[in-house]
Amino acid sequence: VRKQTLHAVYTLCRGDIVPTLPQDPFRAAANKCGGGRGGRGNARFMSNTNKAPTIAENGEPGEERWLLLELKLLADVGLVGFPNVGKSTIISKVSAAKPKIADYHFTTLVPNLGVVDVDGESFVMADIPGLIEGAHTGAGLGHEFLRHTERTRLILHVLDVSGSEERDPLKDFRIIQDELRQYSEQLANRPMLIVANKMDIPEALDNLELLKQELGKDYEIFPVSAATGEGLKELIYRVNQLLPEIEPPEIYVKPEEHRVTEAKENERFNLSFEDGAFIITGREIEKHVAMTNFDNEESLYRFQNILKAMGIDAALRARGIKEGDKVNISGLEFEWEE
Ligand code: GDP
Ligand code: MG
Repeated sequence: VRKQTLHAVYTLCRGDIVPTLPQDPFRAAANKCGGGRGGRGNARFMSNTNKAPTIAENGEPGEERWLLLELKLLADVGLVGFPNVGKSTIISKVSAAKPKIADYHFTTLVPNLGVVDVDGESFVMADIPGLIEGAHTGAGLGHEFLRHTERTRLILHVLDVSGSEERDPLKDFRIIQDELRQYSEQLANRPMLIVANKMDIPEALDNLELLKQELGKDYEIFPVSAATGEGLKELIYRVNQLLPEIEPPEIYVKPEEHRVTEAKENERFNLSFEDGAFIITGREIEKHVAMTNFDNEESLYRFQNILKAMGIDAALRARGIKEGDKVNISGLEFEWEE
C-alpha cells in the first residue's frame, strides 16, 4: 500500500451503469489520486563540471489507492411468505433465475434474484427466504438479507391459497406480517400486493373468496398458479405499472465506511536481510528507483549518490556488506561494488 488505503462501500444494482450514485466513493477516490510529477530533462542537470549531461529522470509514480468494494444486490420487488408457498417457483417462472424449488433449508447468504422483463422494461425481484426460515431455525441471517432489501419498493406477499399442508392462508398472512414488522419496520411499511398462489388446486377457490372478504379492501389480490403460469402475466404487468409510482427508499450510505489510513512514512527506508540479499524498501527510495534510468551511466552515478545522501550506503556498510553481495531495492537487484 503506497500512500493511502481507502475502504469504501460501493452500492451496485443489477442494471446500474457504473458509476451512477450521487456520492460515488469510487469516483471520489479516483479523483483524489494525483499523477506523479514529470521527470526532469537533461538540461536541468547542467553544472560547471558537466556542461553536456546525458542524464534525465523518469516520471514520478502516481498516487495509488486501494479500494474495498462491496457488491450489494438490490431488488425492486421482494417476495415474502411461508416456506413452500411457491416463492422460488414464481421467480423461476417470471425471470431467467433458477432457484432451487422445494428447497426448505437455505444455506446461502445470497437471496434468489431474478430480472423480470416486461414490455422492454425490467425490474429486479428477490426472494427473501431469511425471513421465516431463518427466524425459526435461529440462523440469524435476517440482517444479512436486509442489506439487499434496502431499495425494495414493493412487497409481494405470497400465500398458498390451496391450504395444502394444513395451512390456513389468512393465519399465515398475519404471522408473516408480524414477522416482517419485527424484521424491519421500514420494509413492513412498503406497499404490498397479495399473491394467492396454487390456484390450480381445487380447494383454492373457496379460500380465495375468504381472503378477498377479509383483505380485499386493503390489498390488491392476484390469484395465480406458479405451476401452470396462470395469472403471472397480470401480476408482473401490475407490478411494472406500480413501481414507477412508488418513491424509491433512500439508499443508506454509511459515512463512516470511508476509512482512510495513511501508510507509515516517517522512516526514509527500511533495511532487512532475506534469502541472501539485502532488501531496501520505503516510499522515498522506491520513488528514486522508479525515476532513474538505469541504462544511463550518469543516472546510475546519480543514483549511487542518492544512496549515500539517504544514508543507505552507510547502513549497508554497518550491516557488513561486501563486494558481490546482492541488494534488492523495490524489486530491482543490484550487486555491491566497492
Ligand atoms: P418456496 O419455499 O416459497 O420458495 O416454495 P417453492 O417455490 O420451493 O415451492 C414449494 C412447493 O410448492 C414445490 O413443490 C412447488 O412445486 C410447489 N408449487 C409452487 N407453486 C405451485 C402452484 O402454483 N401449484 C402447485 N400445485 N404447486 C406449486
Ligand atoms: Mg424457496
